[in-house]
Amino acid sequence: MPIATINPATGETVKTFAPATSGEIDSAIAHAYQRFADYRRTSFAQRAQWAHATAALLEAEAEQTAAMITLEMGKTLTSAKAEVLKCAKGFRYYADHAEALLADEPADAAAVGAAKAYARYQPLGVVLAVMPWNFPLWQAVRFAAPALMAGNVGLLKHASNVPQCALYLADVITRGGFPPDCFTALLVPSTAVEDILRDRRVAAATLTGSEPAGRSVAAIAGDEVKPTVLELGGSDPFIVMPSADLEAAVNTAVTARVQNNGQSCIAAKRFIAHRDIYDEFVDKFVEKMAALRVGDPTDPDTDVGPLATEQGRAEVEHLVDQAAAAGAVIRCGGKRLDRPGWFYPPTVITDISPDMPIFCEEVFGPVAAVYRASDIDEAIEIANATSFGLGSNAWTTDTAEQQRFIDEIEAGQVFINGMTVSYPELPFGGVKRSGYGRELSAHGIRAFCNVKTVWMGRD
Ligand code: NAP
Repeated sequence: MPIATINPATGETVKTFAPATSGEIDSAIAHAYQRFADYRRTSFAQRAQWAHATAALLEAEAEQTAAMITLEMGKTLTSAKAEVLKCAKGFRYYADHAEALLADEPADAAAVGAAKAYARYQPLGVVLAVMPWNFPLWQAVRFAAPALMAGNVGLLKHASNVPQCALYLADVITRGGFPPDCFTALLVPSTAVEDILRDRRVAAATLTGSEPAGRSVAAIAGDEVKPTVLELGGSDPFIVMPSADLEAAVNTAVTARVQNNGQSCIAAKRFIAHRDIYDEFVDKFVEKMAALRVGDPTDPDTDVGPLATEQGRAEVEHLVDQAAAAGAVIRCGGKRLDRPGWFYPPTVITDISPDMPIFCEEVFGPVAAVYRASDIDEAIEIANATSFGLGSNAWTTDTAEQQRFIDEIEAGQVFINGMTVSYPELPFGGVKRSGYGRELSAHGIRAFCNVKTVWMGRD
């Protein structure tokens, strides 16, 4: 894939970038490694000051930055601006909480025959972050903010279609005051990842992206015995039971599916409605999905912009066409828009059978698959009938049902009467083939720390 800004709303190549040479990559790793030696000794107070300054710059520059995001990957300007502000919030959260989250953890000294015993969290060093284009700032910030606050330094290999976002993030972090080489954007293709990860100066890696990319990076890291966090795909269920507020459930279902033009790992992708409300849910859902305005992402009236890449749209189209040919029913959408750019309309599909690829594969576009469940057992069974386990959503006011969903859905997170969202305060991650490890919260900042046991005898 070329490293380039290609406007998804027009298909026009706006700017291309030369990939870093092997000498430039080596120099970036060397500089990051040297920087870690002194950066790790900076105080939490000093890092917090830089993180707050970075947040302030993100806030001040939100309009221009949002325009850059929209240009590179096609989300609406409104969502792009919200993303930039969320990044500022992420920096501020870790600026304010890192020291407490990484405070020494006292242990029972007497039980281990010590005068004093505790666990200390220490940074690991240079961490490689391989990131996707769908939230081009937020995905990288939710690694960068905790990692930097913990005293690590970062090397960012961003997706090839968002080079300007990558360069901006490294620049804003440096302008915020973090010392040079604390956070470097390397414009490289995915084929360069293996050598970087195998470099002895690189201590660990995090990857957010597809399952094949995660598998490849995990295999290399495993071979090198380096820790990884993997945030991979999802095919999140959205269950609606008869007791739910149907109007609210339908409105949230629409947002949960089409957020980010349908390209979010935690978008609800499979809708499971109880048979008693199935017909009503489908009718209302189809009506609202079909009414969404698809078009220019810079127009404030647009609800859904283009998909980010031509290949991404082709994959969505293929899954839908295959399902329709095998007997699934397209309730709305289902045909690409006849205009330049990579537009695909909000689509609702019913009557899907398990032998159709759309049943088990992640659909990374505004396409909703709706299933009918005869009872809660079947709803949970369908929810878990996937190799993914990232987010999940269940709508019911019955407390016994709520507890069953919380206990039995196989996912990294369950949202009751709401939709899955990432917050700095809550752990984020998946189970099964959605990956392992956690970002955000205390878990996220500790992911790239050495939990060092300290045992002190009597003097
Ligand atoms: P992708 O193709 O896997 O790309 C993600 C990143 O990995 C890019 O930087 C890409 O570089 C790189 N990459 C691709 N193949 C690689 C390989 N074999 N070795 C090393 N690096 C490799 O994913 P995407 O299509 O951009 O993003 C969509 C996927 O990400 C979806 O599955 C979505 O669910 C998932 N996602 C997950 C989360 C989460 O938190 N769990 C969040 C957002 C997205 P190039 O661009 O140069 O190929």
